[in-house]
Amino acid sequence: MAIDIDNAVCESCFTDIYLVNFIQQNGEEIEKCSVCGSDNDLGPLYAIDAGKLTDLFDPLIWMYSTVENFMPLPMLKGDGYEHWDNMIWNKLVDDWDIFDNYDVAQKIINMMYHVYSHDGETYDFLHSAVEIEADWYDHEEDVMNVSMYEWKYFCDEIRNENRFFPKKLNLDKLKYLLQANELILKKGFITYRGRKAACITPFVADKLLKPPSHKANVGRMNPKGISYFYCADSIKTVIHELRPLKNENVTVGIFSTTQNLKIVDLSNPFLESPFQYGKKLKSIYVLRKFMRELIEEISKLPDPNDPYLDYLPAQYVCEYIKVCGYDGIKYKSSQCDGRNFALFDDKHLRIGPIQFIQSPEMNYKFESKVV
Ligand SMILES: [Zn+2]
Repeated sequence: MAIDIDNAVCESCFTDIYLVNFIQQNGEEIEKCSVCGSDNDLGPLYAIDAGKLTDLFDPLIWMYSTVENFMPLPMLKGDGYEHWDNMIWNKLVDDWDIFDNYDVAQKIINMMYHVYSHDGETYDFLHSAVEIEADWYDHEEDVMNVSMYEWKYFCDEIRNENRFFPKKLNLDKLKYLLQANELILKKGFITYRGRKAACITPFVADKLLKPPSHKANVGRMNPKGISYFYCADSIKTVIHELRPLKNENVTVGIFSTTQNLKIVDLSNPFLESPFQYGKKLKSIYVLRKFMRELIEEISKLPDPNDPYLDYLPAQYVCEYIKVCGYDGIKYKSSQCDGRNFALFDDKHLRIGPIQFIQSPEMNYKFESKVV
């Protein structure tokens, strides 16, 4: 059945990548969008019935409340609070960057939520200034800051007070965040692992696997004696991470996964798209400062004077992730804009080609050859 163009919204109406993908996968091709005016001159244009997006929008929209419901009226009249700048469509553009402009946002919200319906509550909501109540009381009763300090207190505790049974980290909360950030590396996923040395021959395949336990030194995610398989999303990231000296060459093994691996993605400190969390959005939003602290801790440059103590919080979280049954973790490189992985085992990885990179320059414009 052809799409009803009067109720359709197209992929170009949105800037949020999750929605764009959703429309491309579930929509139909149209010639011209009546909401944003985009057409198919430069390639296919997909659109979807606006009503099919309400399930995705609901968790986000209903995080907001009509300000009159919780904010004292004198406060609303003072402090230059602008009613008309704080409608739900303004918020979706300003707070979440979902749309390019307010006009398109307003049109689509009205299409989705039928502004002229007789549902009094929805009508009031769409005609009032809205805020996230928890944000508004940020300074007084700040659950988010409490979360942030919880992480800092935990880091101090594990470094200087209780090493193996710390009490200051709420593991239920941590588990909830891990579940919300699960990522499947599909069978055949390609990843890169390297070693550096001042030798003229490349390492053989066996030497590119994770080191045996007795050789496992302390690392960002692993304590001494427990060996993890560290790898990266590209050869460039591998070289940035290894930081070879001028006389050192780098051998990179190109590995592929032999089955799906379930890992936790702690590489992005911001909520990339509010739609990816579904009904969990509100609780994730409240925990976002905690998550940001955790992710920054995991991705930061270590203290060169005392990596043993500095790595402890990340090692603890990593071990908990392992105990929860995950295969590893994805995290941001502290050396470049790439991504790293710490996989707890290498038995589900198969080595493919090996590349030998001689004296990669500091700017990493390197020549490499397959060996
Ligand atoms: Zn459009």
